[in-house]
Amino acid sequence: MYQYTCQKDIEEKTACYQISISELAARHEAERDEVDVSVVMERMQHSLAVMKANIRTGVECVQPSIGGLIGGNAARMYRYATAGAPLGGELLARAVAYALAVTEENARMKRIVACPTAGACGVVPACLIAVGEARGLDDAALTRALFNASAIGIVIATGATISGAEGGCQAEVGSASAMAASALVEMAGGSVPACINAAAMALKNILGLVCDPVAGLVEVPCSKRNAVGVANALAAADMALAGITSVIPLDEVVRAMKEVGRALPYELRETAKGGVAVSKTAQEIRRRIGQSLAGDL
Ligand code: SF4
Repeated sequence: MYQYTCQKDIEEKTACYQISISELAARHEAERDEVDVSVVMERMQHSLAVMKANIRTGVECVQPSIGGLIGGNAARMYRYATAGAPLGGELLARAVAYALAVTEENARMKRIVACPTAGACGVVPACLIAVGEARGLDDAALTRALFNASAIGIVIATGATISGAEGGCQAEVGSASAMAASALVEMAGGSVPACINAAAMALKNILGLVCDPVAGLVEVPCSKRNAVGVANALAAADMALAGITSVIPLDEVVRAMKEVGRALPYELRETAKGGVAVSKTAQEIRRRIGQSLAGDL
């Protein structure tokens, strides 16, 4: 009854039941799992708690990641966001710090919420929690926003992919940006079409982004790409809230993303055989990591 797989389904069902995207997503999940909506709400609240914990610890921790390529940038950015005069304003700088925090925690092998993937785990929590703090929103509002994000994630995963190995980073950070953009619009009181427009614009902006993890580790460029995914989501959400629409509908953007992913050579799909992963510095890093692993044996 509440199932949806594409933009058209979301538009039709939210209009038919006169509900928000988040409500549709929660009812669909409850229906699928044959449980009460309160059960799926509680589960999502648990995910939110993990995200908040990642941010809390991540903005303070300076411990290096497992691969040693990142760690400490979140703390640096958080200090800058709260004590300086960031060029893009405190909200954006805080959200960037939060995205770095969650991705650094992931690279330290801490428990995170893969939303939609571990590589792109920073965008959604960073956007939602930073905006939630700025607007004084409670956990219930943030939980609803996560359901909204999940609906967009389902549309993208069904129509294309959320895997970097299949579609490049556009499928990971691009999808996370689209999910966050839509959720932000709902948090700000925007309409269902505005949410969908925000998602379409955010995904479209990142089409073609390759997956090229240095030394095969989800650290560089992944962590900073999450930070840029945050800026993309906020810009797309603000455009949608200003009444700007996506000329290309979300379903068509998703299809285009799938085709672009197919067209990407395998070197640029998580194999670490292209992009910045084969730069001179990346090759030196790979050699260094290989030597230190051999030394540990
Ligand atoms: S570069 Fe690849 S591994 Fe890193 S976040 Fe993007 S898709 Fe994931």
